[in-house]
Amino acid sequence: MVATGYEAGQFLPKSVAKLHSTYAIVTEPVRSFDGWKDRCLIWESARPYIYARTTPDNRIMIGGADDPFRDPAHRDARVPKKALRLLARARRLFPRIEMELAYAWAGTFAETPDGLPFIGEHPQCERRIHFALAYGANGIPFGSVAGEVLTSSILGRYHRYKHTFGFDR
Ligand SMILES: Cc1cc2nc3c(=O)[nH]c(=O)nc-3n(C[C@H](O)[C@H](O)[C@H](O)COP(=O)(O)OP(=O)(O)OC[C@H]3O[C@@H](n4cnc5c(N)ncnc54)[C@H](O)[C@@H]3O)c2cc1C
Repeated sequence: MVATGYEAGQFLPKSVAKLHSTYAIVTEPVRSFDGWKDRCLIWESARPYIYARTTPDNRIMIGGADDPFRDPAHRDARVPKKALRLLARARRLFPRIEMELAYAWAGTFAETPDGLPFIGEHPQCERRIHFALAYGANGIPFGSVAGEVLTSSILGRYHRYKHTFGFDR
């Protein structure tokens, strides 16, 4: 089983995803969420996009400001600037909420051409090697789908998503 996330490229004959850098911040707890209806989750479909949510201890988390490269040193050097940009964006979205930056960080994420993960055997690899590459913006649920698909595969059962997420699509 290869479930090594963005390090999986080394186990594949050819790369299946592009690696990007993404940034996120969280504020100190805020006093109110004035202007933020129901503290709803925000995820823009715009490009560039941001996403934002509140936390149980009344902080604001906002992320985005992606860069089209993965180099970790270059990425990490950009965190302070990106943090200020995300904070400014949050303040523009919610001008009535007083907010101060608490933490900022960056990460790598993978994007496939169709936004879907790759799950299953690779046609050019040993058939007993199973890949669970939960790439994409919805990678966390895809990880759990990979668990189901690969369990079926190992047990010799058909799974309805086998071909949807297979390398042969
Ligand atoms: C900032 C950020 C925000 C995100 N937000 C969301 C979100 O809101 N919702 C969502 O669905 N997805 C989100 N994602 C994407 C999601 O996190 C990934 O798509 C998902 O975690 C990928 O799952 P994976 O199992 O393929 O890899 P990973 O979760 O990266 O797991 C791979 C594991 O393999 C380990 N590993 C690597 N190499 C080796 C090795 N040689 N030997 C042993 N172990 C190894 C790693 O340490 C890691 O623990 C976000 C990603 C980032 C960076």
